[in-house]
Amino acid sequence: MIDLHLHLDGSLSIEDFQYLAARNHVDLGKDFPSNVYVPEGCRSLEEYLTRFDLPCALMQDEFSIAYVTKSLVERLYKAGYIYAEIRFAPLLHTLKGMSQEDAVISALSGLNNALRGKENFDANLILCCMRQADYHTNHETVRLAAKYKGKKVVCLDLAGPEAFHTGDYYKSLFDEAHDNDVDIIIHAGEACGSDEVIRAIDLLHAKRIGHGIHLDLSRENVRKVIEKRIAFEFCPTSNLQTKSLTDYQNVPLRNFDKYGIMVTINSDNMTVSNTDVLQEYRHLYKTFNLTKQEVRHLLANSIEAAFISVDEKMKFLKELDKRIDDYYNKIIE
Ligand SMILES: [Zn+2]
Repeated sequence: MIDLHLHLDGSLSIEDFQYLAARNHVDLGKDFPSNVYVPEGCRSLEEYLTRFDLPCALMQDEFSIAYVTKSLVERLYKAGYIYAEIRFAPLLHTLKGMSQEDAVISALSGLNNALRGKENFDANLILCCMRQADYHTNHETVRLAAKYKGKKVVCLDLAGPEAFHTGDYYKSLFDEAHDNDVDIIIHAGEACGSDEVIRAIDLLHAKRIGHGIHLDLSRENVRKVIEKRIAFEFCPTSNLQTKSLTDYQNVPLRNFDKYGIMVTINSDNMTVSNTDVLQEYRHLYKTFNLTKQEVRHLLANSIEAAFISVDEKMKFLKELDKRIDDYYNKIIE
């Protein structure tokens, strides 16, 4: 499997929570472990985002960031993934005085430790700016994305409550990233509508869109995303939980695909959403009766949209062809 949209702080294992809570003297609350998953009857993205408070409280020092990163990469490898891009916002990890740069260095050390000796598997990091953070704090994240580009940091993202500010508010930050050849993803078209997706592409230089399910497939918009080869990171279960979608039937998979728009399937948050990419494919298989060719096509899209070299893409496509029968059997079982 391949996951291109996977938040580190939304994907701690139950054991990670227990270990770090004891080490860092953090109270997990009387509802643990149910309080690490999306709240029952969650009504919005804002409510969903409250589930990041506890993992972030545990990840305020170098050791803890390295620990959870290593843990996640090792779980993905064991589960038969071939590639993942793991994202996190270093600015959320400075409450106890750690710098954003130290947070990035720690995540890289956990990542590189976990990758050692693993064949036919790779993972990279994406750094997130946050919509609710101030300019200077986000600017430091932009600087770090440029500084660590090519050193296992592959991209800069904008996450957080989509209704906070529209894309134009962040233009100078993402202009600077673009001028420094940093690739860009923007969370857009999840809680808000199509205009925010277009702003992400036109104003913020996005090459991939986190979610984007609400893109209006007008002739002009379709032409734009095809011409610019924009890839969309769908995370169906997460969208149902945040009430961005009401049913798996409403995932615009076939609508996007019929125009040749590049769609990828992702988990968003393995713990908060209580899912993984295999589960997402299972839901889509049950809803749309996906064939093996369609699953292979979607996974090949993920490889095509990944921020890796052409040689690595060729290598992972070969690996995908070796594993597709196994993947499909697991999806339909
Ligand atoms: Zn996300």
